Amino acid sequence: MNKNIIVMKFGGTSVGTIEKIKNVADRAIKSKSEGNNVVITVSAMGDTTDELIELASKISKNPPRREMDMLLSTGEQVSAALLAIAITEKGGRAVSLNGYQVGISTDDVFSDAKILTVKKDRIVSEFEKGNIVIVAGFQGITDANDITTLGRGGSDTTAVAVAAALNAKYCEIFTDVDGVFTTDPNVVSDAMKIKILSYDEMLELASSGAKVLHLRAVEFAKNHGVVIHVRSSFNNNEGTWIMDTENLNEKMEKAVVAGVSYDTNQVKISVFGIPDKPGIAAKLFEELAKAHINIDMIVQNVGEKGIAAISFTIKNEDLNTGRKVMEELKHKLEIKNIEIDTEIAKVSIVGAGMKSHPGVAAAMFSALGDKGINIEMISTSPIIISCVIRKERVKEAVKLLHNAFGLDKQKL
Ligand code: ADP
Ligand code: ASP
Ligand code: MG
Repeated sequence: MNKNIIVMKFGGTSVGTIEKIKNVADRAIKSKSEGNNVVITVSAMGDTTDELIELASKISKNPPRREMDMLLSTGEQVSAALLAIAITEKGGRAVSLNGYQVGISTDDVFSDAKILTVKKDRIVSEFEKGNIVIVAGFQGITDANDITTLGRGGSDTTAVAVAAALNAKYCEIFTDVDGVFTTDPNVVSDAMKIKILSYDEMLELASSGAKVLHLRAVEFAKNHGVVIHVRSSFNNNEGTWIMDTENLNEKMEKAVVAGVSYDTNQVKISVFGIPDKPGIAAKLFEELAKAHINIDMIVQNVGEKGIAAISFTIKNEDLNTGRKVMEELKHKLEIKNIEIDTEIAKVSIVGAGMKSHPGVAAAMFSALGDKGINIEMISTSPIIISCVIRKERVKEAVKLLHNAFGLDKQKL
């Protein structure tokens, strides 16, 4: 491990104004003056990415994904350059680099590209010149030299991938909350900051909607043993450590329910009246996979007379593509009817201790049922249980599950 290499990532709100960019510059200069080699990964300023998406949507409902990446990657370049200017203005030395200049190579799945390799040569040579290195987050380059982006929230993944390539001491993710909480602190004011989480718990929290960390960032960290420290960019408090917890205090690791997450960015597609015969589900999901659509939950009901119904959920941003694929399949697979429901949400409970505690699912279902919240789909794996419910009741569901599993401040 290179003890003196530190990677810090600052999210959109943390670089949302010039004042904030100047504060980040101060942090970078301070860390450098303490003898560290410093890499800073930045997101686009504030709501820039949303604004760019909005601009494109005024022209097209289904813009080419390659062009969207060309467009969205500009946001991170702006904040990277401004931060380098701010550091230089304060008397420090800095250079900003985009994904291409660093050598962050990805596959060619535009708008959701996966990092394949990160070169360290350019960054190391900039360290040797005495520079703080600023890396534009969220972007990479394909073999054909096309610009890609890594999916919403992807700057976290840039930071972790760079930390892995440099074998850095750890990767600090600076954001607008003090760490990872028992649930979104902007929804439940009694949420508690968690001190340490295992990679697996954080993976489940991230994949079920706790957007505080990008899922791929956690996967990368787990695979490469990168320790992540999620903390606030507005104070110096210690945040949450995401690491291998195998050798830590048993009790810490085995919280039955460590956190509650929710995801309102999903839609449910239901397919009615399809023939109940082998191979149909495979054909349906193969076509969706070809269009790079990830499926989350799936429920199949087999009715009478060999007719089945399948419901599944996908991400909101895949809806237009998904609709197109389904229309094409309607004929091919003799589907009677397709329904799209955008008013759903998913609520999940996560905890490593669930593995050895029976009754957790039952407790979750009765907490929801007691308040008349109808469960439409369920999925479980060893450390997570998720339910699809009506979107309008999701925040209420998060609050009541947070309370039911004793995560509220008062109870602890
Ligand atoms: P950044 O712009 O710094 O990447 P994000 O908006 O992507 O920040 O992530 C931080 C936000 O994640 C918080 O403001 C909070 O609303 C949300 N969040 C959701 N679940 C959690 C959780 N369990 N712990 C902390 N924050 C959470
Ligand atoms: N700017 C991108 C987004 O808003 C990436 C990121 O912030 O991590 O999703
Ligand atoms: Mg983020």
